Amino acid sequence: MSGTRSPSADGLAPRTFQGRLTLAFVAVVTVTLGLVGLLVVNRLGAYFDQQQSDDLMARASGVAQYVIQRAENTSTVRAGRPVVSIDGIVDPAVVTELSKETEQRIIADRLGQADVRFRFGLVTSQGFRPAANGTFEASERSTPQPGQELERMTSTPVVIPWTSAAIPYGVEVTLLNPYTYRAAAISNVTGLLAITGLIALAVAVVVAAMLTRRITTPLRRLTEASHDLAEGDFARRVPSDAIEDGPMELSDLGLQFNAMAERLQESVEIIRRDRDRSREFLADVSHELRTPIAALRTFNELLTEGADDDPTARAEFLETSRAQIERLDWLAQNLLELSKLDSGLVLLDLRREDLRSSVEQAVDQASATARRRGVELTMDRPDEAIQLRHDPVRIGQVVTNLVGNGIKFTPRDGSVRVQVRREPDGGASITVADTGIGIDPAELPRIFDRFFRGSRASEARGSGSGLGLSIVRSIVEMHGGTVAVESRVGAGTTFRVTLPAQPGATPPADPRRVAETSSSPAPNLNPEPAP
Ligand code: ADP
Repeated sequence: MSGTRSPSADGLAPRTFQGRLTLAFVAVVTVTLGLVGLLVVNRLGAYFDQQQSDDLMARASGVAQYVIQRAENTSTVRAGRPVVSIDGIVDPAVVTELSKETEQRIIADRLGQADVRFRFGLVTSQGFRPAANGTFEASERSTPQPGQELERMTSTPVVIPWTSAAIPYGVEVTLLNPYTYRAAAISNVTGLLAITGLIALAVAVVVAAMLTRRITTPLRRLTEASHDLAEGDFARRVPSDAIEDGPMELSDLGLQFNAMAERLQESVEIIRRDRDRSREFLADVSHELRTPIAALRTFNELLTEGADDDPTARAEFLETSRAQIERLDWLAQNLLELSKLDSGLVLLDLRREDLRSSVEQAVDQASATARRRGVELTMDRPDEAIQLRHDPVRIGQVVTNLVGNGIKFTPRDGSVRVQVRREPDGGASITVADTGIGIDPAELPRIFDRFFRGSRASEARGSGSGLGLSIVRSIVEMHGGTVAVESRVGAGTTFRVTLPAQPGATPPADPRRVAETSSSPAPNLNPEPAP
């Protein structure tokens, strides 16, 4: 569970997806920048070294040429004396000239930009041979130019020969501790790299945060929705904006979650409705049972208290008790039948038989009651047989209930017409139309509910229990058929049962309930006893 997560093994690693992704981004950027930085600094170092060495050589050559030029311009040399004699001695006038402070400044501060050591020497076939008195040192006095720094190093000596002289000589120049641009350039580049790195890191953090936000926001919404669902809020869904904004995988997950929640809600509602109906059903059953039991108890008490002395009263009590017991028995049978139908325990005994005879038998059974009540009961049937797969006993039960209601709710001298006919689609229909009291439009949608009795039911000659039409609908639906009703108050009611050619053609509410077997015992439901 989310609340009892164990701390991570490494302790420091962030637990959240956002934290981890940000850390990963930062790590990748840091490593990349580190490697790039190393490479750049390394390459730049080599490049600047080369640049500097070229620069120092150029400066040294400049110094050498300047020195040679100064030596050649000395009056004694111009008069014909060699700068360096054949024994390796530098002309003293040259020495004096080059030792001057002004010359030293030019050589060290302007040309060499370093402490400069230069010496004259003879250029022979063996190479450069330094003169005995020709070594000069000029110290740098000026301040470095902007961007320059003093570098503690000694440059490679540069020798510039002057072979056009009578005695060929040369000058060897070495620069010590020069002012260079290298360190500053490198530190500039390193600083720039560091700044770039910091900016890249900041960008990485921002991008990681934005990316993870896009992922974690829908994830969080999903988590909240599942939490609420787990708490029992079955109407909870993941908001559509969270589904649309997230990555495709998460959008799919959100859609699936919502579909699952939808189905869950439907199932829960069905279970709740069933539970409520069962409660109502139980309450109705106990109420229905209580009335005849109370009546029986009263008769019993009256008889015990001596009413049996009066033979007329005794006979009346016994007769009424018998009627109540019949009613109890009828109620029990109906309840049993209905619960079997509902639970799917009843299997239809489907046979290909003439539907006309199934209907006719039920109508015949009801004719005595109709006659007794002064209601005309007629049956209209085609001449040719209607061969149809159906359960004859249960379809007979349907007709018995509908015709029974018709007779019950039709006043004397009215009529009940039963019609059975083949339908164009190969199925058949049974219509029971009466000229009775009719049903209130407001009550029409409820008449198939268990224990529902219309407000006009008590006006009619039967009290009923409100189970007859429930049984009708269950049996018809098991056949894959439908039952419809039309009614006008004061004019009459017409019930129309439609049965398909094949009972399985239209799937019934519960497919288990249709089977071709004769194992189910035929229900023995008598018409409702007279009140
Ligand atoms: P009951 O045992 O009360 O007849 P039903 O389930 O058969 O139970 O019928 C439920 C209610 O539907 C009745 O109480 C009555 O109000 C109404 N009803 C059924 N059939 C008819 C009919 N043919 N004419 C008028 N009302 C009817």
